[in-house]
Amino acid sequence: MESLGRSGLIDPYQDRTSGEPRERPIPSWWGNGQYGGDAAAGPIMDRLSGRPKARSIAAEVLASYGDCLRYHESFTLTSSLYEIRLQHDPIGVKYARIDLQLGTNRTAEALSHELLHLRLGMLGNPIGDEVWIPAKLVLYANHLMGMHAIVGNLLQHELIFDAFLDLGFEKDRFLARPTLGPDYGAIALDLGRSPDYPEELGFPWWCLEYLRHWPSMRHGAGEQSGGWADRALYWGSKVHPEMAEATDTMRDIVESGLLRTVGEYPHWANRLLELMRLPNYTRWVDIRRGDACSGGASSGGRPVVMVRANRRESRSEGFG
Ligand SMILES: [Zn+2]
Repeated sequence: MESLGRSGLIDPYQDRTSGEPRERPIPSWWGNGQYGGDAAAGPIMDRLSGRPKARSIAAEVLASYGDCLRYHESFTLTSSLYEIRLQHDPIGVKYARIDLQLGTNRTAEALSHELLHLRLGMLGNPIGDEVWIPAKLVLYANHLMGMHAIVGNLLQHELIFDAFLDLGFEKDRFLARPTLGPDYGAIALDLGRSPDYPEELGFPWWCLEYLRHWPSMRHGAGEQSGGWADRALYWGSKVHPEMAEATDTMRDIVESGLLRTVGEYPHWANRLLELMRLPNYTRWVDIRRGDACSGGASSGGRPVVMVRANRRESRSEGFG
């Protein structure tokens, strides 16, 4: 067994905004604005001009992360994303970062989306910090950790979508579009002919492809995402017939709303990872505002990370 820390929560798919029209070509040297801590407040608030509720969220995030916040806005980015990078010994937030792609038609929306991701920890939603990789899967550790990060991001969308609407934004502007998939039919046919197909990596990959598309329908991306989800399921089931049952239960869990219940998220996120045959998170951490912690010790304007005690779960479950 090998223990690996998380590599950060990124939005490699959902916040991609490539392909959106720009009014005119932008020279690549323009707009490489990078800011840290207090200096990020000005540009962030400027991007949310006329959006008092979104500004209020931004103020919360700025106050919570303090010096740890890194903000980068540029026309040359190909997508917007967020990342929370933890450090260990002692545990803490190394940095929390937002990259905002400029030049799209949803700048305020994309920034608010990423701010809501960063705020989740402050609302009592823990983040997965450590995964145990069985020895037979160590070869694939980097791939698996990458999938964990994407699953975490997608599940968080369940937690932040309503808050996004509450800021006054339209639902179809929560995600950048379009979220396309590869040629699943060609991939399935290739895999079917390959004697070296790693099923322990392949099954979670197909489930993740489904998960990339299906929840997006719930988050304003429209029927096109449903079509891609159906395609991933159809062709994935050709390779792994048991995928239909797994995705049925995954849908039940997401639709139940249990992920949105504070305190329940670690259990149900791990259950979903199990269904995808991905290793469970074995450690979860809470992130709190430093000045909101008891004990009187100063955190130097940085957030405080607290490891959640591992509770053995012994409840009866309704899903699979
Ligand atoms: Zn996101």
